[in-house]
Amino acid sequence: MIPYGKHHIDEDDIQAVVDVLRGDFLTQGPVVEVFEKAVAEYVGSKYAVAVSSGTAALHLAALAAGVGPGKSVVTSPITFVASANAPRYCGGDVLFADINSETVNMSPDALREVLLKNSNVKAIIPVHFAGLPCDMIAIKNLADEAGAIVIEDAAHALGATYPNGMRVGSCENSLMTIFSFHPVKAIAAGEGGMITTNDEATYRKLIRSRSHGINKLDDPIKVEAEAFQDGEQNPWYYEMQELGFHYRITDIQCGLALSQFKKLDSFISRRRQLVRNYDLAFIEMKNCRPAQTTGRDQSGHHLYVLRIDFKQIALTRGQVMKKLRECGVGSQVHYIPVPFHPYYRQLGFRPEDYPDAIKYYQEALSIPLFFDLTEKQQRKVISTIKDLLV
Ligand SMILES: *Cc1c(COP(=O)(O)O)cnc(C)c1O
Repeated sequence: MIPYGKHHIDEDDIQAVVDVLRGDFLTQGPVVEVFEKAVAEYVGSKYAVAVSSGTAALHLAALAAGVGPGKSVVTSPITFVASANAPRYCGGDVLFADINSETVNMSPDALREVLLKNSNVKAIIPVHFAGLPCDMIAIKNLADEAGAIVIEDAAHALGATYPNGMRVGSCENSLMTIFSFHPVKAIAAGEGGMITTNDEATYRKLIRSRSHGINKLDDPIKVEAEAFQDGEQNPWYYEMQELGFHYRITDIQCGLALSQFKKLDSFISRRRQLVRNYDLAFIEMKNCRPAQTTGRDQSGHHLYVLRIDFKQIALTRGQVMKKLRECGVGSQVHYIPVPFHPYYRQLGFRPEDYPDAIKYYQEALSIPLFFDLTEKQQRKVISTIKDLLV
């Protein structure tokens, strides 16, 4: 069975984890910071904060942006549920701006409409879908007009670049960018996430809030009478200064992630080659086309999504997935639009308010794309799909 996505682990990765296990720290040791520094340097941000998952990164980023009761956050309807859930964790409201059909990213025009109709938008979370960077300049301009903070959900886009050549994560047009190191993403930590930023106050807040809200770095002490005796700080003393969480990542996970990170560029270039092969194979088909065709040299290529006209081929998507499966080809749908989920329906969202997301959803099918997919396997995927769709 060829899955739609899969991690790649080699002996160096295994050795990296063993090295951590043989060392002094399983967690809160030196490898976390080494990994943070490596990612910050690579993406071109001043700071990076590693956390236990991409979802934890979104939650802390939303908190650091000041999302809370009475404040709203705009995100894309075509994303993993975590992008929308993070503002809900903070007691904030979620709004969705429909996608652009050609990029599958949040449409700046739809975002403008949402911002016109809603005051109190505290943050915007654009999602670089399948690794294709959003139009960050348009989004940042609209955010500035609305007085909103931008948090990029780059869970799909580690290694991707903007049109000007800067890397996703550099936060040129956002306050924060988040990444995920779940095994289906660009690099694997088992579970893990990261927030990058160029803003020192935000960085300090993130460092505190991933560890219970306890003072970190050189945060000023609040209750000096408790902290000091005879002008010296009491050696046991620390302060929980705000309500934080336990979202730390372990050194074991960072050992793996750091080893994976060294292979990121080769991971991306392999994915890019596979995408080129798929594009060539599908570009001339009648009832099926690549969901994204622009920014092929900029994307992180997390997913390869086809848009299939199921009515024309007289097969349902379920039937196609089943037939592919019988031929040993895995597939998946990314994503069920977030407002379709019962939790969001119950909050009053109506799927029909996002027509481009619906149209996309009706046609979308993700097919296998991962580092270890061989040319032979890829040819099999292509011929199986072509046989099915004619
Ligand atoms: C995977 C993913 C997340 C969440 O990351 P986890 O590490 O699984 O918590 C958030 N947003 C998007 C778009 C994702 O694909």
